[in-house]
Formats: sequence, structure tokens, C-alpha cells
Amino acid sequence: MSRPIFLLIFIGFAVPGFRAESASPPIRNLLLEIRGIPLAELAGEGALAYNDYNRSRIVSLVRNNAMILATQDELAVLMEQGFKSTILMQSADPLQLYRRALYGPDLKLDPVYHTYTQITARAAELMKDHPELMTRFQIGETTQFNQPIFAYRISNDAQRVIDRPALLFDGCHHADEVMGAEIVLALMEKLIAGYGTDAEVTHWLDTLEIYLVPVVNVDGHNIVTSGHDPRWRKNARDVNVDGVTGVYPEGVDVNRGYDFNWAMGGSNNPVGPSYRGVHPFSEAENRAMRFLADQRQFLLSISYHSQGEVIYYPWVWGKMSAPDDKVIKRIVTDVASHITRMDGEGSYAIAPGGPSSQSYPWFYGRRGVIDMIIETGKGSHLFPPGEVPGIIAENLNGIAALLSHATGPGLSVRVTDANTEKPLSAEVWLPRIDNETVDRRSSDAQFGRARRLLDAGKYYLVVFRKGYGTVVMPEVEVNSVGWTELSIRLTPES
Ligand SMILES: [Zn+2]
Repeated sequence: MSRPIFLLIFIGFAVPGFRAESASPPIRNLLLEIRGIPLAELAGEGALAYNDYNRSRIVSLVRNNAMILATQDELAVLMEQGFKSTILMQSADPLQLYRRALYGPDLKLDPVYHTYTQITARAAELMKDHPELMTRFQIGETTQFNQPIFAYRISNDAQRVIDRPALLFDGCHHADEVMGAEIVLALMEKLIAGYGTDAEVTHWLDTLEIYLVPVVNVDGHNIVTSGHDPRWRKNARDVNVDGVTGVYPEGVDVNRGYDFNWAMGGSNNPVGPSYRGVHPFSEAENRAMRFLADQRQFLLSISYHSQGEVIYYPWVWGKMSAPDDKVIKRIVTDVASHITRMDGEGSYAIAPGGPSSQSYPWFYGRRGVIDMIIETGKGSHLFPPGEVPGIIAENLNGIAALLSHATGPGLSVRVTDANTEKPLSAEVWLPRIDNETVDRRSSDAQFGRARRLLDAGKYYLVVFRKGYGTVVMPEVEVNSVGWTELSIRLTPES
């Protein structure tokens, strides 16, 4: 008896509720510029606080200058509040307003930024002039347009892989965060130009291997740099398979596609900014990075993003930190302290990130790489041209700081077969430090080498490979400076 009544009431309430939710958002057809905004309005709960995911109102907020989408009514309110607003553009097409806000008056990317074609061409020039210092190899093809994704190896003998600490720098998992590509390209220029002339650069190239992937998400980067859509974040996948690409906000978030707690990160909403795709490594861009990680064991790496002037590192997992937390934090703190913020008031912050689906938990958890995300710049993903040289220069300082940690302290173990002397891939394990949150660390097959950055002290070491006698060393002493070398010969079991 009560059931039909209940249903009736439910329907009665549901209808107005539904209508309220479907009311369309105000059409903001004005683009305003507000200059010289007081600091109090910019912070936390201020009237013009910036949220980098929701740019339906505040498009960018660089230093004290805002680009804002507004209705006539909102403009009136802002004027009443005393904000001096200039109308830069009025258009019924929101994409035109975004172009004006983020590209500037010409509505296309400023030439201070590079397209992928330009980056690739510049790299080819450098390789032609210095074949001994730099080589290129393809690590994959993009998901939608099958464009090649390139990695570069730089050292004093770049034609071959050498048993040295290897570091990786990549840009543009997120398409609109183009500063990453610019920083990696600037690093490439600096390394090639500096070899033989700059003592620090020469030392790096003589003792390390440096790998660069200027652009991971090549299709998305092209959408931004071609002038099509400066907001584009994800890759170019035609998610709804309607044969049309480049209509915002389609695509898959390439920085939510790694198979480390994949389901805990990103979202399963295809139009959300962090759509993770249908399964881990569904996107070719992620498979390209995995392919690269399969080719070479990296010691340290940085993945460049924008924005926030903060470094995210692995990790905070519930209340647990990463097994190598002390070492990671020491290095990340040092890198951050070398990167001055745009306002000149101190340096980048550091924060542990969650242990899910992004690049740094995967590189760390699965591959033992101390990987971090650096969110460069503040208040936009695409910065006004005048800001670009400063952000690059500061981040090159951060890179120099990171490279200084590739010399240790730490343990450098070389594992060989006792009979054949051939290098072996084996588990090189510190059971008092490692726990079940991370995969076992291994020596690489190529050199039998496993390097691990550690604080000075005594460590319990286990070296294991199936079919060989396990080596247990309860008190390996790691020196306070440099790499402590250890040669382990595994004897085959008869
Ligand atoms: Zn990002």
C-alpha cells in the first residue's frame, strides 16, 4: 500500500531536481584581462583563486594578471568589486576566447615555443654535427596518428650503451604543459654545446648517460602547438570512435595509464580531464615509455609538467612513505632548492604524491627509478612568452642539482656467473628496506649492474637468481662518498 505512494513522492521530487541540475552554465562570451590583482585575492579562497583543472572562468593567472571568461553580469560585479577589467575579446565561440587568452593577440603559438617537427629537426642537426655525442631511437608511435615518439641518448660515446648511471628527462605527458618540451630541448642544447667547453657538462657526458624524451604525448602536443586548441591535455585518441578528433575534451590522460595501482588513479569518465583509458597501458604513449624503461635501467629521472612550482615524488600510501623515502627526500629537497619560483620568493615546494597510475610511482615501484614530477611555473599551463626563458633557466639549475646525485653515495653491484663470467640479471635486494609495495630491484641483463642510491651505513643484501646459489651479505658497508663497488659471482646449482 505504501509503496506506490512512496514512488509518487519520489517522482514528484525527482523532476524539479533533475531540471535544476541540467540548467546550462552561464555563457561566458567575454574574455577579460585584469592586471595588478592584489595578492589576497589570488590565494586560497580569494575572489580570483586559480584552479588549473577548471578553467571555465579563470583561464590563467600569471603573476598578478588574470585572463577571465565572463558574462556581462559577471563583468559588472567585477567592476563593482574594484577590479579594472579590460575586454580583450567578445565571441560566441569559446575556443576563440581560449586561443586569445593562452596564445595571445595572434591567436597562435608564440615562436618562443617549438613544434614537435621543429624539436625533431633541431635534434637531427645536433646529431649530424656531433654524432659521437647524441643518438636517436624510436620508442613507439602515438595512439591516434602513429607519429614516431623519439628518445635521445647523450654521452661522450653515445653510439653505444655504457655501464654508467643513466638518467632520464621527459616532457609533455600532458599536451598543454609544453614547458616540459622546452626544458628538455634546452637541456639537449646545453649538453651538446657545453661538451668540451663547459667543465661541468663535460664531466656529466664523460661519466653518465643522459636520455631525453622531449615530448611523450606527440599528438596532443601537436594539437596545442599547431594553434588548434591551447587547452588540450590528453592524447588525441578518438575515444567515442566517431571519426572526429581534436574536439575538446576528448582523449586519454597519458599520465594515468601506467600499471601501478592503475584503478586508484585518474577517472573512468571519458570526458574528464584525467580519463585513464580502458586498461593499463591502453595508450601507445605509455607503452613507449615502458619500452624505453625495458631498454635501460635508469637511476634518476624527471618528468616535466606545469603548473604549481612543486615537485611530486614517490610517495605517500595511506600513512606509509616509500621504502627509500629518506634518500628520495634528500635528493628532491636539493633539486627543489635550486629552482627559484617565478615571484622570486623562495624555491619550488616538494610533496609526496599518491602511489597510483602516474609515471613516477610506476618508475619507482616497478623499476626502482627515483622518478619525480616537476610542476614548472605558476598560474597557467601555457605561459606568456616573456616567462619562458626564466622558467627554463631555473629548471636547468634543478637538472644540474639532480645530476650531482648520480655520483652516489650508493651501492653499485655487478652480478656475474661464476663459471662463465657473463653478466647476470638477478634480484639485488635489501630486505630490511624493501617491502611488498615495490617490485624487487634487479641487476640489468646487459652489464649485470644494479645501482642504488643509499645513505652511508651498513646494509643487509641478498642477491638471488633461480638456478644459482643465493648470496646473503648481512653487513655491506656503504661509504659516505661515491659508489661503493661490489662484485657478486653467482654459482650455478648443479
Ligand atoms: Zn601534468
